[in-house]
Amino acid sequence: MAADYMPFKETFDDFKNTPRYRPHLQHQWQFERDQDPSIVPGFPQRQIIKKYAGANFRCGYKDCGHEWFSKAHSTILFQYDPISHRIKWRKFGQKCRQCHRSEYHQAHYGDEQIERTIDYLLKKLILKVYNINLTVDPPQLNYNNNRGDDLACYCEACMSGNYCRKQD
Ligand SMILES: [Zn+2]
Ligand SMILES: [Zn+2]
Repeated sequence: MAADYMPFKETFDDFKNTPRYRPHLQHQWQFERDQDPSIVPGFPQRQIIKKYAGANFRCGYKDCGHEWFSKAHSTILFQYDPISHRIKWRKFGQKCRQCHRSEYHQAHYGDEQIERTIDYLLKKLILKVYNINLTVDPPQLNYNNNRGDDLACYCEACMSGNYCRKQD
């Protein structure tokens, strides 16, 4: 499982040292290797929520194995500590849309989605902590093209408080 988690940390460590972000980061920020499932949304002064990155899901039950893609419900939560400069994070899962069993299955993000997510995280972090605006594009969801994906009832983030819909 760890193999799935590393690209987020690797991408963060890679990006934070590039000229685009490095001059603005006045501290050494540490991105946690593993997710922290104990963090929950609701602390906007210390959290950044990335929505609509687009994730792949696969049902973990062998007799099903259904695979699907979701943009409307692919939320990632980041929680930063302005004292220790550590960043915790957590992906949210989805229930299977075919067999409807109660387990949440992990979201898997591709390289491009991870890069876009880390770019968003760094820009929001720089804006919130250092008040420097590098122009952050708000995550967009074109509902006309994603009607079939708009199934909040399967989404762990929506079940915990409708987080895919909330404005930042
Ligand atoms: Zn959702
Ligand atoms: Zn299934």
